[in-house]
Amino acid sequence: MYTDEEICSSIGNRESNEYGAVSPPIYQTSIFTFEDFRAFVDAQKNERENYVYTRGVNPSVQFLEEKIALLERGEKCKCFGSGMGAISAVFHSLLESGDHVLFMNNIYGPTLELAKHLSKFNIEYDVLEPDVFKLEEAIKPNTKMIYLESPGTMLMKVLDLRKVADIAKKHRIITAIDNTWSTPIYQKPLTLGIDISIHSLTKYIGGHSDVMGGAVIGQKSLIDRIFKIGHQLNGAVLSPNDAFLITRGLRTLPLRLKQHQESVKKVIEYLQTKEDVTKIYHPSIEEKDFLSEQMLGYSGLFSFVLKDPSFAKVSKFISSLQLFKIGVSWGGYESLVISPLKDNNEEILEMQGIPIGIIRLSVGLEGSELQISDLEQAFQKLKE
Ligand SMILES: *Cc1c(COP(=O)(O)O)cnc(C)c1O
Repeated sequence: MYTDEEICSSIGNRESNEYGAVSPPIYQTSIFTFEDFRAFVDAQKNERENYVYTRGVNPSVQFLEEKIALLERGEKCKCFGSGMGAISAVFHSLLESGDHVLFMNNIYGPTLELAKHLSKFNIEYDVLEPDVFKLEEAIKPNTKMIYLESPGTMLMKVLDLRKVADIAKKHRIITAIDNTWSTPIYQKPLTLGIDISIHSLTKYIGGHSDVMGGAVIGQKSLIDRIFKIGHQLNGAVLSPNDAFLITRGLRTLPLRLKQHQESVKKVIEYLQTKEDVTKIYHPSIEEKDFLSEQMLGYSGLFSFVLKDPSFAKVSKFISSLQLFKIGVSWGGYESLVISPLKDNNEEILEMQGIPIGIIRLSVGLEGSELQISDLEQAFQKLKE
């Protein structure tokens, strides 16, 4: 068994690498050519295994896929041009008209938008709170998939993955998790019985806010099906050059996560002392016994709630920050801040159970001292 650090750095650098290049080359090609027609015909019979066309398999992309599969302790991985490309591929490949999907926990917005869209094709869904005790009651005869996030979007609530997997297995339902928050370094859902793990590689794995990608990991038969439909026909292909950038990101992933974890811990400790903060959402401060086995560490994305939740105060606080830049996404080297609050959506947030004064921080790599002093000056400005 390799260590994660080994997989991220040295494992898989192909021995056959022609010039002994320590960094594997980028196969920046759309097609592969053949010696004779027979070889071409044979290769085309199985585009899953052979290099024919880059909207199939490409060595640079495959190199990354092998590493991610090893990290997740899964049989196979397929990469995509974005996280949403990966999620769409899973739904389109494994669901059909008449099926029902159960979503558990707070789910990434566009994933739920996609579920809404699929109702046009007679695929129905329900969204459940992160409460495993309600799961069995919510299962219908046509429930085909349980799709979850843990930690969930925005409120970072956690779910007992082993329990969910056990219940799903009893009912022969496929389980899929969006594992982006933890990365495979901090959570390995397949080892807890979940069937499919999904990532947006755009976040921590890429890690430098300069590339987009997605990945799906699971047993060979499932990934082969997802390849055939969701990858080949939806066409969200990861480019060889982007695969190279993500492979490069992967090399420092364990190291970066350590720094994110250390900083977020300090930032949270600091926020716990602020009377302007009423609540903090991060799995490291949740008391759940299953967490010590389930999560191997904690990344740097979390939320907190301002005591005065008015748009004016939230806006003032966010705009006062200087190190934390205002922007979507997360998981890069830079600290970021956003809030789902707009000047007209308080009721919608309340309906979703999201506190109005919520602010989300992605704690970057600048070090907790700078991050805390930026937050402190923004709290001072709130008082003015
Ligand atoms: C960003 C994100 C996605 C979508 O990934 P893209 O690469 O932006 O398409 C999916 N799930 C979660 C939890 C995300 O944060």
